Order: sequence, then C-alpha cells, then structure tokens
Amino acid sequence: MPFGKLPAAKPRAFVPETADLGDWPQIAPLFDELKARAAQAKSAAELERWLLDWSELNAALDEESSRRYIAMTCHTDNAEAEKAFLHLVEHVEPQVKPRQFELEQLYVAHPLRAELLKAAAPAAKRKAVAPSRRKPAAKSRYEVFDRNVKNHVELYRAENVALETEEAKLCQQYQKLIGAQTVNFRGGEKTLVQMGRYLEEPDRALRQEAWEVVAQRRLQDADKCEEIFEALIQLRTRIARNAGFENYRDYAFRQKGRFDYTPADCVKFHGAIESEIMPAVRQIQAERREQLKLEKLRPWDLAVDPQNRPPLKPFAEVDEMVARAQKIFDRVDGELATGFRQLRELKLLDLENRKGKAPGGYQSTLAEARVPFIFMNAVGVQRDVETILHESGHAFHAQATRREDLHAYREAPIEFCEVASMSMELLGNEFIEEFYAPAEANRARKTHLEGIIGFFPWMAVVDAFQHWIYTHAGHTRQERQAAYLELMDRFGGDVDWTGWEQMRANSWHRQLHIFIHPFYYVECGIAQLGALEVWANSRRNRTKALKDYKKALALGGSRPLPELFHAAGCSFEFAAGTIKPLIELAGSELKKL
Ligand SMILES: [Zn+2]
Repeated sequence: MPFGKLPAAKPRAFVPETADLGDWPQIAPLFDELKARAAQAKSAAELERWLLDWSELNAALDEESSRRYIAMTCHTDNAEAEKAFLHLVEHVEPQVKPRQFELEQLYVAHPLRAELLKAAAPAAKRKAVAPSRRKPAAKSRYEVFDRNVKNHVELYRAENVALETEEAKLCQQYQKLIGAQTVNFRGGEKTLVQMGRYLEEPDRALRQEAWEVVAQRRLQDADKCEEIFEALIQLRTRIARNAGFENYRDYAFRQKGRFDYTPADCVKFHGAIESEIMPAVRQIQAERREQLKLEKLRPWDLAVDPQNRPPLKPFAEVDEMVARAQKIFDRVDGELATGFRQLRELKLLDLENRKGKAPGGYQSTLAEARVPFIFMNAVGVQRDVETILHESGHAFHAQATRREDLHAYREAPIEFCEVASMSMELLGNEFIEEFYAPAEANRARKTHLEGIIGFFPWMAVVDAFQHWIYTHAGHTRQERQAAYLELMDRFGGDVDWTGWEQMRANSWHRQLHIFIHPFYYVECGIAQLGALEVWANSRRNRTKALKDYKKALALGGSRPLPELFHAAGCSFEFAAGTIKPLIELAGSELKKL
C-alpha cells in the first residue's frame, strides 16, 4: 500500500479505536448497540446522534473495504492481500448487509423521524440579502437521506433475494462467455481486447481482416447471448412485478433512486441527441472519410487516426505525468492545485503500470480519513492524460466533502460524480500544452471532443433499446432485433455495413451494461451534458465557473440532483434547447483545432 496511517478527519465517537473491522465478532456488538439505541432515542437530537454514530460505523467499514481493495489491486501477486479482501467479501459483508437493512427499517418506522426531517439544511454562507430575495422555505437537512433509505426499505421483497442470486449467475455466464472469446490471428491466439489495437493500424486491409475475424467470432456466440438475455428479461420482469411495478423499467428507475428525472425525460433526451447531435456526428464521419480518402466508411475505419499519424506520446515517466498534471491544476485553480499536491504528499497515488498490478484505473475514497486515492496503469499514452484529469476530478469531489459528517452525504449520485470528473477533463485540456507542442495539443483536444460527441448517440441506442425491451413484454427475438435496427438507423450515422448486416443487428451483444448493469448508461450522458455546461461557463467566466463547480462539489450528495447541477451552473435538462448551444460550442472549437 503506497500510503501509511492517514490523519483522521474526526476522532471516533462510537466505534472503538481498537476494533478490527475485518472481524465480524467485533463488528456485531456495534450493530446490536445501534439497534437497542434506536428504541431509546427520545428526541430528534438523540435520533440524529444515532444516525451520526451509524454513519461513523459505515465510514469505518467502508474504509476497511477500500483499504483491502487497494492493497489487493496494487499487489495482485500478494496472496495475503487477496485473502484479506476475500475474507471481507465472504465473511463480513454478507453479515453486515441484513444488519444494515434492519437499521434502515428501524429508521423508517421511527416515531421521531418526522421530527428529524424538520431540521433545516445548513444555509449556504452568503452576505445578507434583502428579505424578498431570500429562499422561501428552509430545506430539510435529511430530505435526501430519508428518501433514499425509505426507497430502499420499500422496494425490498424477500422473494426477490433468490431471483437476484439467479440474475447474478446469469450475468456471470455472460461474462464467462464473452471472456472466453478468442481468435487465431497472425499466428497466435488473441483475446478480442488484444485485437482492438489492429483497428488502429494504418493498413486498411489488415484492419478489415482483423475486424472480420472478430465479427465472425462474436457471431458464433450470438444465439447464446440471446438466450442468456431472454432469461434475464424474464427474471427482471418477475423482480419488478414482485415489487409492485408494471415493468422492469419503472422498477429500475426507482431502484436507482431516480427521483429527479423520469423515463419520459430520457426519451426526450434521445430525441434531442437525434436532432442536435447526429448532424455533428455525420460531419465528423464525413471529415474522417475524406481524410482517409475513402468512398464509404466501413466499421473497421472508425478507430484509426484519420491522418495516419503515430500515437501521441505525452510523457515517458510517471513522475513527469504527475508534475505536468500538477502544472495544469496550478493553472486551472489554486485550491484544486493544493488538493492535488496533498494527494502527492500523502502518497495517495499509485499510477504506474507494473507487473503484479490489476488493470484499469479508479478513484477510491478512504471514507473515514475522508481522503481520495487514485489508481491507474499509466504507460505514456494520451489516454493516461485523460484518465489522470478524470480521476483527479473525482478526487477533488471527495476532498470537497471532507467537512460533511454524514457518510451518505460525502458521496453524490453517479450523474453528478461524473460531472466532477468529466468537467476536469475539459477544464484541464485547456492547458494540455503542459504535455504537448501546440499542434499535438490541438490533436489531443480534437480527439477528446470528437469522443464526447460520438458517445451520445451510442448512449442513446443503449438506453432507448432497454426502454423498448422492458416495456414490450412478451416480444419475440425478431421484434427485438427490429427495434434495435431502428435505433441503429437513427443513431448509427453514415457507416456502411454491407455484407455484415447480421453483425450490425447483433452489435449490442458486446455492450456489457445491457446484460449486467441494466439501465445504467444514461447517467454518463446526463453527466457529460453537465460537464459541457461547466466548460461552456468557464469560457464565459472562468472564475465564476470554477467557484460554482467547487461549491457544487462541496454539497456531496446532500441535495437532490437538480440542485447539485444548478449549484454547478448547469441546467439539468436533457432537451434540445440545452444541447444545441453546447454542441455549437464544441463544433466551433473543433473547427479551430
Ligand atoms: Zn468517472
């Protein structure tokens, strides 16, 4: 583990300092005590104290889990670290879960709950304002916490537990199926992930060959994918009906705590993407086609650099990446720059790719110390620069909520968490010359902006397809395919799939979210809109945009989504009117690059 003992954000008031939070016999009495004390609370203040003690226990358990996860992913070859993590997953978490649920039920049924809800949220510090401009009514401090816990308790059905286990098994079957897909190519067995790099080859014949081998391999498993998916639809529909919902879409919206937007808002979002973003996508595709001097873009022409340039090389050593990222943050905002410096000083970064390290990148928060940690596998490509900016945005979010005492409020919903991180990609890119000569900096910005624009239509396909699936009970496989192809016509752009129609019709099989994380995807689109708005605001008034951004981050998860967005200077509307000016800005920016 890169970091050692960290300064506590606050001394513990409830959990003993010596408690081993990886040992259930030492944890159980704390749940017993909380259970007993719930009944003894005689005032709203006592109930609040109880909530804060419960929150302290949650933070301590959360940090224990994060520490073990970090230790394991930083050292995959350390058997002790793996054992310690698995012990938590297998022997502690299954015990904790029902006890948490029990406390949630006690909270929801508590006679003093209504009294507690009268407690006002702390007013933002501001200068005295004229009475007429004051906000009408004080907002409840516990409104968001309360609605989340109540929702969780209300949705619970004992009969769904077994169905969810079955669902998890099917998801695992899907992952196993996809994970086992390999091809023989150029004299060796390769995974489909490894094959991805051939799509960046300037040699078109090679790209096509590689793409076709992969497509053929995927098509071999098409029927199995459909079978697994059909079993999943059935299970999910039963889960939803058990919980009293007409269909799984409506259940999923509630289960994800989507109180602030509806399925209809998402449908409106899809339409706005079609009318406002698709023209820009088609234009980017046309430009690519011209640069590649092709008559038609084929599916294997989408990942290669359109000017056949070698990949960007932003840095050689990870220390260099960190120092340059620091310089970017120094230019973005002094306070955020101090935050990044703190990550370096406390050794809360493990960034270089090395043997014995898990793949990928993530930001994790040590919930009790209230400090972030960033993990990645930097190898010196542009993607690493995007990742360090992105994960730093998450880290700034965690740092901003440090003074919040309720553990649940130190984390925001995903729709806003990704605003924090995606905004930082855009804000940081303004100073990406810290890594590149001017022409290369523009190339990096162009790739980034085109990636953002290109993400929206695929997001719309993935989301709209699932809306259709779960609201058309009893549909046939053919009907499902027709619905998908209709979406591909709307959002696929000008790509010629001639000869590979079957692959086009099944191209959703590789999108793991559809199988494993149903309805999770639109969040990223919502967040990306917010990030574009933060960026647009910064173009008009950088100081104010940064101030609003930090203010919104500091709210953590304490307010509903629209308030978080508004605090950040964003609109929280997925309509054509919101999207149009943002795409115009991105478009005019692209013209300059
Ligand atoms: Zn993220």
